[in-house]
Order: sequence, then C-alpha cells, then structure tokens
Amino acid sequence: MPPSPKTPELSKIKVSPRGANRLKSGHVWVYRSDILSADNVAPGSVVAVADQRGKPLGTALYSSSSQIAIRLISHDPVPDLSALLRSRIAGAIAYREKIVRDTDAYRVIFSEADFLPGLIVDRYNDILSLQILTQAMDANLVRETVISQLTQQLNPASMIERVDPRVRELETLPARTSGLLDGEKTATTFTMNGVQFHYDALEGQKTGAFLDQRENYAAAAQYAKGDALDVFCYQGGFALHLARVCDQVTGVDSSRPALEVADQNAALNQAALGQKEIGWIEANAFDLLKDYAASNRRYDTVVLDPPAFAKSKRDLDAALRGYKELNLRALKMLRPGGILVTCSCSYHVNQASFLEMLSSSALDARRNLRLIEVRGQSKDHPVLLNVPETAYLKCVIASVS
Ligand code: SAH
Repeated sequence: MPPSPKTPELSKIKVSPRGANRLKSGHVWVYRSDILSADNVAPGSVVAVADQRGKPLGTALYSSSSQIAIRLISHDPVPDLSALLRSRIAGAIAYREKIVRDTDAYRVIFSEADFLPGLIVDRYNDILSLQILTQAMDANLVRETVISQLTQQLNPASMIERVDPRVRELETLPARTSGLLDGEKTATTFTMNGVQFHYDALEGQKTGAFLDQRENYAAAAQYAKGDALDVFCYQGGFALHLARVCDQVTGVDSSRPALEVADQNAALNQAALGQKEIGWIEANAFDLLKDYAASNRRYDTVVLDPPAFAKSKRDLDAALRGYKELNLRALKMLRPGGILVTCSCSYHVNQASFLEMLSSSALDARRNLRLIEVRGQSKDHPVLLNVPETAYLKCVIASVS
C-alpha cells in the first residue's frame, strides 16, 4: 500500500552521545556541534532524531543556520504536524484558562515552555500578537495551522505579526515586516490587575508591554508606600500600580516615546488615581541615581527593572557590575523600612548570582535586607523545569533597614 499523504518519510538526523544525553535529561535542544549527520535535510523540516546507533529519540524541528540545530517537539513519531500543532495550541490555551487571573493580557504561547519551540503568541484584549523565531515555524503550512487554530479558539478582532529582523537574518529567512495577518484593528486597551494600558501593536518594544511582570506589579503594590521611584519605567507598568497605594510616584526612563505612552496610560487611569499625578523624567538612570544619591534624595519605595544587561555569558561580569551599581545607589536612597523591588530579565544572571550581587550591594551600602518575596515571571510564561532557558526573570521584593 502506498504511504498515506499524512505520513511522509521524515529526514533522519543522528546526534552525538552528548546530544542524546541532553535530550534524555529532558532538554529539547541539540546544538549543531552535536549533530553527527544531517545530509540533505531541508531548512525548517520536521526530522526523526536518533542516537549514534540509530535508536529513535523523537521528532524535532530542524534549523539549517541556528546554533540550536534541532528542537524536539515530541518523544514519539509525528505523523501529522498540523494535528500536533493544533493540540499543543489547545493545550496552551487550556493552561492559561486555569492559571491566568485579573487580566485580558497574557502570553498565550511561550515557545519551548508550551512545547511549541519558536512560536510566541501574546494576547492584548482582542488583539493577538505573534512572533515566529525559527525556520520551521515560518513554513506556510505551520503559519496557516497556527492562525486557524488561534482564530477558532480565541476569535480575536485581529492578529499581528511582530518581526525581529535580526532573528530572521540569523535563521536565514527572507526579510518580512511587522504587520496585520488577519483583521484590521491595530490598537486597543487592555487591563492588568484593574490598571488600564494602551496597546499599539505596531509600536513600542517587544510585543508592546512586559506581560511577564504582571504578577510582580500586583505583588509590589502590596508592600509599596510613601514616595516611590520607578527606575526604567517604560510605559509605566510598575508606576501605575504603585500610584494606587503610594503618596507620590516618579517614573524614570531614557526613552521619550515610552514616557509619552506612560503619561497617556496615567490619563487612562485618572478616575482611579484622583488628584494624584505621576511625574515622568527622561534621563539616563545611572546618571540620575548617581545625582540623586549624592544630593541625599530619599524614597520609601524604589523599583529597578533595567533591560537585560547580559545578552550572553560573556557579558556576565559587566552585567553584575551594572546591577550592583544600580542596587547600591537605590539602597542608599531608601529610608529605613523602605521597600526595594529589584529585577533582572537576563537569563545568564541566574537567581543565585542575582541574590549574591544584592547581598554584596547591601553590605557595601551598610543596609540590612529582609527578603519579602523572591519572584520570577508571571505564570503565563511557564518555566519548563528541564529547560533552564525558560526561566529568565528575577524580581526580589525586600524590606530595607
Ligand atoms: N519596568 C518596565 C519595563 C522596563 S524595560 C515595565 O514593567 O513595563 C527597560 C526600560 O529601560 C526600557 O523602557 C528602556 O527604554 C529603558 N532604558 C534602557 N537603558 C536605560 C538607561 N540607561 N536609563 C534609563 N532607562 C533606560
């Protein structure tokens, strides 16, 4: 009998013992240096993975250019990729239905952590924002399946693709611009923990907002008080939450466009904020903290949420020095009993090194720190235990005396 059209013969890839061990330990990546044979394997294809002796290890998506040559999608054979994608998407949505609270903005699909490596989908109220990060996820058939399943289940007003040209270049994919995939709506408002935000799908950074901090905003607001300073405030995520509980809030960022949106977000929440006004300062945070610390400014709450300082392992030392400088200055500015909310979104700075940096900052500043909460990313950005790269955000809330 001829094979059915749904079960084409997959290309085979053999991996080294080190690559095989990595997969057996629960990771889903194999680096190019651990590929033994990948002859005539088309970029972005679905491949059958085997160890050196030919023993099957599962099914993976192949990239011909990334250092991460394969990303496992199943421990079993995959006769029908579209069916697998549909069920994975349904699984990701069902997971969010259980764990997401108090918002209409959250990550619907988080790549490896949802067993859909190379695909990110964020929901902002009635708009979905997609990011495609690998050759395999860029294939037309995959795109069609993803769009149709998301439409069927979530029925958004529109879907937008956010393109990072650098990613496409690394994956040797043809250039593409960010834009609508479906529908016409490109802007909306969304709500997190009762705070409202503007969303413009084709502006801003990342996919528009930092959804991974959503639960940390609510946590910070539980302890924040008095005069608050939100450093690296972007569009006001922390500042707007703090404004509901603090006497005075100032947000600092070096990006004027981000601060303009922050101010519009404040206006959107005016009813809840009453007479309270949030001050926005456009400045380099390092310079501003240095000046403020030198001129004896004092705060009751300081939030530090800088961009990722360590983009690779090589940057680790410099990154830790950057975090230390910021934290040291913030600690010096906090009144006794003050609250420090300090974050790092660098995967390469793990929780242990972040806490060590904080402890050394506290010693240098001669302050005592009591850890109130040591937190990570919001639950809609799940951490897959055997894939450490899925855990990247640290958010420490501490009482300073
Ligand atoms: N706390 C924000 C996210 C911060 S993202 C939120 O929850 O939404 C990091 C921000 O740091 C960006 O808005 C970027 O413009 C800003 N930034 C980067 N370098 C800076 C610097 N040297 N000084 C001040 N802001 C900076």
